[in-house]
Amino acid sequence: MRRTLLHSGIVPFFVFAASLMAQTPPPAAPAIPAHPPTAFIEPGVLPKTWMTGGPKCMEMPAWQVHEYNPNFFILRESGCIHYEKPFLYLIFGRDKALLEDTGAGQVDSASVVKDLIAQWAKRNNKSAPVPLIVVHSHSHGDHTAGDSGFKNLPNLQLVTANVAELQKAFAIKTWPTDIVPIDLGGRIVDLIPIPGHDVAGIALYDRQTAILLTGDSFYPGRLYVDEAEFATFVASHRRLVEFAEDRPVAHILGTHIEQTNTPFVDYPRGTAYQPEEHVLELTRGVLLELDNALNKLNGKLERVVLRDLILSPRPPRQ
Ligand SMILES: [Zn+2]
Repeated sequence: MRRTLLHSGIVPFFVFAASLMAQTPPPAAPAIPAHPPTAFIEPGVLPKTWMTGGPKCMEMPAWQVHEYNPNFFILRESGCIHYEKPFLYLIFGRDKALLEDTGAGQVDSASVVKDLIAQWAKRNNKSAPVPLIVVHSHSHGDHTAGDSGFKNLPNLQLVTANVAELQKAFAIKTWPTDIVPIDLGGRIVDLIPIPGHDVAGIALYDRQTAILLTGDSFYPGRLYVDEAEFATFVASHRRLVEFAEDRPVAHILGTHIEQTNTPFVDYPRGTAYQPEEHVLELTRGVLLELDNALNKLNGKLERVVLRDLILSPRPPRQ
């Protein structure tokens, strides 16, 4: 046999190759590894740009409502109403809806949210709107100003942005190290305490879309931190990094945009109209970049300008 093979050297190569092909069975289809159910990510679409504030305020709606996918909505407040123009997030599970934040300034977010919940119920053939849980990325006024409008809604659980209320509402035994699930019915959103920017800061991770919501603790803009809270901020950021380590992350979405689309450059504080603003979404890569920068500071808070965000020491309050 060996000799025959050696002698096959005299056979023209294409004949040899053809005979090999004829004898080799067609390759089996590559085995697709079974996807664990947790690896299934529901996709969605983000807009290329968002409305900001102007240039003609009379033309602008108070809210831009963006349907990321049929069960995940992003609302942006107009910069003509308040220069902070925050983002709100509305997530629907089978049995409940979850809203993060209620807006800044003189604002009626409740009627917009109520209308979306009614439309969603109709679209999903529900006989009644699903109950709503309202939480806040943190307690600052530019994220809670619309709270009062929600108070008279039926089927509402409004969780005030303070640690005791959060612990009670979501059975968080140990703050801030416990990460707890919020069950919306066939959809789990994880609550991760991240104090630092504010004492009642939280992040939310929607397992269905793999979107991580980080409030004012991580967004394309100025991350304000008090000197006295810096160690807490660093520990919270580490908690986020560790949480994201073994989970898919589609987008990290915060609650403002203050950066321009030019790397390292932000808009001055108070800017309403931002035609060249940075995109809303950040990645796990930026999360790690900030983690690296925080580690280098070695406990001493300083201003750090990164490509997509700026760590900003907050001047001590008088
Ligand atoms: Zn804010």
